[in-house]
Order: sequence, then structure tokens, then C-alpha cells
Amino acid sequence: MIFSPNRNINNRVNLKIENVQLCQVPNEKETSIRVLGFFLDEKLNLKDHLKNICSKVSKSIFFISRAKGILDKTSLKLLYFSRVHSHLLYCLPLLTLLNKAEIAKLLKLQKRAIRLVYGKKYNDHCDPLFHDLGILPINTQLDYEIIKFMHNIKYFNKPPFFRDTWHLNRDFNRPYGLRNNDDFYCPRVIKISFFKHPLYYFPKLWNNLDNNIKTVNRKAFISSLKRKFFGSLHNVRCVKVNCKICHLMI
Ligand SMILES: [Zn+2]
Repeated sequence: MIFSPNRNINNRVNLKIENVQLCQVPNEKETSIRVLGFFLDEKLNLKDHLKNICSKVSKSIFFISRAKGILDKTSLKLLYFSRVHSHLLYCLPLLTLLNKAEIAKLLKLQKRAIRLVYGKKYNDHCDPLFHDLGILPINTQLDYEIIKFMHNIKYFNKPPFFRDTWHLNRDFNRPYGLRNNDDFYCPRVIKISFFKHPLYYFPKLWNNLDNNIKTVNRKAFISSLKRKFFGSLHNVRCVKVNCKICHLMI
């Protein structure tokens, strides 16, 4: 399989994966390979992967709509987490390469599934439902997962494969004691198409975080992060007894 950028199909780069047979059946129409459940296409634009997620989530929405008259809300919630949320969360930080319209498509499907679980109308507000489920909308969840990932990279060097992918500013400014020495180094980017690239967007998101959240203690860090992200959900009047999210806000 040969990978090439969108606009230069004729000038193909030398990045090749040899001896790849797509789905074991030769078929010229197939343009992607599946690696651990993640679809990589020849232009690395994740369109095939998005198509795959949308297809799975749409099928699950159909199941939920069929089951909503039979199952109670607790069982429907379980169905949502097993059939929809698991697919949305899989390799989530990589979905930063999708554009806004594509993320909005996933968000629309997620909201449709949640409204079905709670038996709400198509235009009801979803923020109280997200709060009740203890989850975030997919576009916010994306940033949340990226920040969690960068916390692991910075303090625990995990996963080890990414150990040399991002560097701290102190690695480049050793003689100087600058205040942002502990932040990640952000390369200069001019093209808008690179703004969401993991090499630029991940460290930028971490650097923009408040200093009081960036703590080594994993438990305190997760609590602060949840407080920040769940606090951004609007129009929530919680009546849940012993609500974990409301408890975090205190
Ligand atoms: Zn609550």
C-alpha cells in the first residue's frame, strides 16, 4: 500500500507498507487497511475510519430505538455504553485529525443515541443528559482524552513508544531558566491544516491548561480536569442523589 497526501496523488511519497493484502481478497476499490480496529487509508485522512464508526453507531442507534419500548432506562444506558460509547472512545485522540464537520457528525449521532436512551424529543437539550450519564460530548471528550494522554507522557513516560515524540522547552533552553521550561515545545506552524496535527495540537492543549491543574498526582489531576470540563456543560439542574459530578464541583 502506498500512502500519499491529498493534493499530490501523482507525486507519491516513499512511505510504503509491503505485502499488505486488503481483507484477504484482491479488490481495487479497497483503499484502506485495518490495524487493530483502526482504518488507515492511503491518504491518511481517516475517512474510512469515520465511515466505519458512523456505520457501527447508526446500527446501535437502531437497536436502542427497537429496545426502548422493552428495556428500562438502566438497561438502555448499559446498551449505550457498550454499543455506542465504546466505539466513540476507541483511539479517540487520533480523531483530532478529523475536521469540524466530521466531528459534528459524530456528535449528532451521540446526541441522537442519548436522547433515545432518555426518551427525549429530537430537539431537547443534551447537557443535562450528558451530566446524568457522567460523560462529555464527543468534541469535548476529545480534548479531555488528549490532555490525559499528555499527562501520562509528561509525568510517567507512558506509553514508552511516544517517549521521544514530544519534548519539553527545557530540552532546548538548558542555559536559561524560563518560566515555560516545564511546558511542551510547540513547533511553529503556518498552515491551518497542521493546527490539529498531534505534534502541534497535543502540546498546545497541555500548555494552555491552568497551572493548578497540572499536578503529578494522577487522582487530583483527573478530578481537576473533570471539574473544568463538566463545568462547561450549561443548562444543568441536577436532581440526582449522590451525584458524582456535582460532588466534584463542590
Ligand atoms: Zn449532578
